[in-house]
Amino acid sequence: MRLEALVKAAADVLFPQHLKCHCCNRESVVNSYGVCADCESKLKSVPALPNLRDIDGFDAGLLYTEPARRALVSFKFNGAVYKKEFLAHFMAIPPEWSADCIVPVPLSENRLKQRGYNQSEVLAEAVSEKCALPVRTDLLARVMETEKQSLMTREQRLKNLKGAFLASKECRGLSIVLVDDIKTTGSTLSECAGELKKRGAVRVYALTACCAEEGNTNGYG
Ligand SMILES: [Zn+2]
Repeated sequence: MRLEALVKAAADVLFPQHLKCHCCNRESVVNSYGVCADCESKLKSVPALPNLRDIDGFDAGLLYTEPARRALVSFKFNGAVYKKEFLAHFMAIPPEWSADCIVPVPLSENRLKQRGYNQSEVLAEAVSEKCALPVRTDLLARVMETEKQSLMTREQRLKNLKGAFLASKECRGLSIVLVDDIKTTGSTLSECAGELKKRGAVRVYALTACCAEEGNTNGYG
């Protein structure tokens, strides 16, 4: 064994978490959710949680700034599904929400085919493992292909999402936690919640991994 390999092997024994950081992708000693000390010190929680139309309670894990942004982008667009370990670490259902199930924000069939997975469903499953609430993907469907929302204003987003979701009558009487990867303007979450309530859901909460900074609507739905 060459010296270099020997040192690396010894380091792996001494630092079993000597892995790539979920945020900066550098090989480093990482914490329990896979992030190096430098990135950990830069993560920010959301300073003020906004009220959203048709949503009875909203909570988000991290502010959508670096280095969390980088991890979320690669989780969502580059197939790095394993980064759920990091993102879901910050997602918890507050004890005062009495919920029956978790519903991920659905993707259109086309986008699901392109991406191979629904990032919101991956996060919903990870949250479900922690709180033992079931994930229901049968309660809400995306029935209309929508334009990419990244460069749209709030008004354009609302128009773009009109009629995009269809809820099942099965949601009658249920308290639901909607899960999405990010809250930007909140229009996607509100549109889903409105549709679920139209079909009889009694309460709809929303939980996201990240929350865009006030005024920064450039990015996602
Ligand atoms: Zn890092």
